[in-house]
Amino acid sequence: MPSALITGASSGIGREFANQLAKRGFDLVLVARDEPRLMAVGEELANKYGVKYQVIKADLSQVNEINELSSKIKNQDFQFNLLVNNAGFGLNKAFHKSSPEEEKALLEVLVTAPLILTQAAISQMLESKNGYVINVGSVAAWITSGTYSAAKSWLHSFTESMHAQYSKEGINFSTVAPGFTRTEFHQRANINMNSMPKWLWLEDKKVVSEAIEGVLKGRSLVVPGFQYKTLKVFADFMPRSTIRNFSNYYQSKRRGN
Ligand code: NAP
Repeated sequence: MPSALITGASSGIGREFANQLAKRGFDLVLVARDEPRLMAVGEELANKYGVKYQVIKADLSQVNEINELSSKIKNQDFQFNLLVNNAGFGLNKAFHKSSPEEEKALLEVLVTAPLILTQAAISQMLESKNGYVINVGSVAAWITSGTYSAAKSWLHSFTESMHAQYSKEGINFSTVAPGFTRTEFHQRANINMNSMPKWLWLEDKKVVSEAIEGVLKGRSLVVPGFQYKTLKVFADFMPRSTIRNFSNYYQSKRRGN
């Protein structure tokens, strides 16, 4: 039976990964802070698709909790052949207004957790010469939207390097780069999205189905939605100064100043 470990499975894109993977017959290891919510997700999918599930309560902004989860993976407390590094959040603040603690938490969740969990997971996958890793990046990696963009750029570059190194060992690495997706992300970060044009919005179902198809086909980068595939072409050819000006405009608009 295939099995998947998904971080940030209590809500949004991670919850939808749990749904679509369970539908494909994957047993689930669900990770996030909100244990009752994870239990509800697991219970619902077990009833619906007959899969098994385990819930791991972990705050991935705490390095000791990341290490604890990594040890469990290394000890093979649970086995899985698909890892989804999805947990994440945004900080809707100018760099000089956020605290070092907030910035560090962002970096641990978006960078340290995928790094440590991937390293723990691929030893199992290398033995069986079979494994899949989906890292949930962002179109923000293409622009200069503060430390969130910097962290997602790291994740994109990391995934491409891993893809280059391990695809011949039987492990497929993919970054999925969603644009604006309807989840709890913006509400949690207190980002006002009222003025965002409708055509820019994606549904989590589409993001996740394209990500799963992409990793199974061995694609290193998956960009869901025609609108973002088109924007990626522009982003690749636009002068960086234009990208920086656009990023500054977008950030001040979303902060309402
Ligand atoms: P969401 O609905 O807010 O879900 C975020 C998930 O991450 C939740 O399950 C949350 O669970 C978990 N999480 C947050 N902080 C955590 C922590 N410290 N420890 C463990 N888990 C934590 O947002 P989403 O849109 O689905 O976000 C998923 C991923 O997509 C993120 O990496 C985000 O950067 C990326 N993304 C989103 C968009 C978008 O427009 N929505 C666009 C591009 C990329 P708990 O609160 O239970 O811990």
